Amino acid sequence: MADRFFPNVMPDFVSEMPTLSSTNLAEQEAGSDPLMKLLSMPYPSLSQQFKRVALDLNETIVKETWGVSGKPVHDFTLYSGALGTAFLLFRAYQITNDENDLKLCCRIVTACDSISLASGVVTLICGRAGVCALGAVAAKHVGDKWLLSHYLSQFKEIKLPSNLPDELLYGRVGFLWACLFLNKHIGEGTVPSLCMRAVADEIIQNGRALAKRQCPLMFEWYGEKYWGAAHGLAGIIHVLMDIKLKPDEVEDVKNTLKYMINNRFPTGNYPASEEDRRDVLVHWCHGAPGVALTLVKAAKVFGDSEFLKAAKDAAEVVWNRGLLKRVGICHGISGNAYVFLSLYQLTGNVEFLYKAKAFACFLLDRAHMLISRGEMHGGDSPYSMFEGIGGMAYLFLDMIEPSEAKFPAYEI
Ligand SMILES: [Zn+2]
Repeated sequence: MADRFFPNVMPDFVSEMPTLSSTNLAEQEAGSDPLMKLLSMPYPSLSQQFKRVALDLNETIVKETWGVSGKPVHDFTLYSGALGTAFLLFRAYQITNDENDLKLCCRIVTACDSISLASGVVTLICGRAGVCALGAVAAKHVGDKWLLSHYLSQFKEIKLPSNLPDELLYGRVGFLWACLFLNKHIGEGTVPSLCMRAVADEIIQNGRALAKRQCPLMFEWYGEKYWGAAHGLAGIIHVLMDIKLKPDEVEDVKNTLKYMINNRFPTGNYPASEEDRRDVLVHWCHGAPGVALTLVKAAKVFGDSEFLKAAKDAAEVVWNRGLLKRVGICHGISGNAYVFLSLYQLTGNVEFLYKAKAFACFLLDRAHMLISRGEMHGGDSPYSMFEGIGGMAYLFLDMIEPSEAKFPAYEI
């Protein structure tokens, strides 16, 4: 088990030194350990460092995935392909207002257009909805009305096959999330609530059909009853909480979460699926991190202290076992850092901000070195958003203003 993650030997908390003279003091206390220096650095200085490194990383990622004038797109997805680069550029544009980032984002989305149409996948993270949704939002910002209406009309053309799964990466909630993304960025009603409600109805109906005693909703993907964010309950419930649910549906959502809390591993981690008895995965896709984000949202939406307590328990697992030997957001350190960011945003507790900072600083200080030595996996698609350093660059951009951070393509 130990070889999946680095033992977390970072202190549980390090105070920041707000003034110049105390910075020197902090530096003295931190000694020669560069990671400790980063952890004690005043946030405004650290934030600038995150920004510098993130923008450098963006340049590298664009060079490797797109080149100077565009490479043929083989993998268009936001998960592991070109759309991830476009999504990263859009985030950079939101922070820097650099029009070049926005224009390049638009060009990359255009290159993904026809190949995504042929893919048959309908979701935001792995399919056509991601291209149409990001394309529309980028077109709006660039002020291109024709392109905006092109992507919106293309989005409306997306048909959900009846045998679609319900999960996030390939299923109904992955499409629903794209609708929410459009409504947030283009305007409420861009996708009418009736359309979204019809998709939610099917999801709830399917969940109830597989229900068992004490667990009112259950779903399957390729025959497995997954619990995690990518393919299972955590991801499905996360998106459902953004839909206006009826009172009986709210009860089903809450009781499903309570079932998960009551049946977690004794360590506080969560099984990857109903049948999983191996307490090994502490990823966003499978395990405590993805469940923690859903619990934080449940605490926010329902105001239930049981969910907040469980989210904090899950965050403790992430702190102890979540310094993964991988870099990305799906099953890497970058994604796990968002657990602490979401708890910081809900509670205002700076200890959670510190923990997010600790994971991000660990990457800032040593990710490149660990990857080059082969001690850390750089991802099967090493520049991608969900598996590679694209996710790390996104985290660094989010660390500039941590109260605004959102797990990419997942938290609204
Ligand atoms: Zn994963």
